[in-house]
Amino acid sequence: MKSHAAGRRVSVVRVQVGALRQVVPDALAFCWTLLRDFEDLAEAELELDLVVAEVSCRACGAGSQIASRFSVACPQCGSADVDVVHGHEFLVTSIEIGDLPAVRSTEGVQNG
Ligand SMILES: [Zn+2]
Repeated sequence: MKSHAAGRRVSVVRVQVGALRQVVPDALAFCWTLLRDFEDLAEAELELDLVVAEVSCRACGAGSQIASRFSVACPQCGSADVDVVHGHEFLVTSIEIGDLPAVRSTEGVQNG
């Protein structure tokens, strides 16, 4: 953890990433380092908030968390006829820049 340095602009960008997103966190973090160099946000931090996949089964009605990122079939009955409740998130949940108050975002891709 970095301690806060007085007089330096510190930014924190928090991103929610669903478990079903084809995003490898390490790769995303690497892209972030490139982005912040480009944007001159040398002090910026990227915080990844991984969201566990969750499905609602149309066949048996069960709601279950999904451990595998390759299959969303219902763990209870094996049906593939499911609604994905969580797991496709990819959204910026907050951005903090210097002295500005945190910007909260409720916009984002859900259940896409
Ligand atoms: Zn089921």
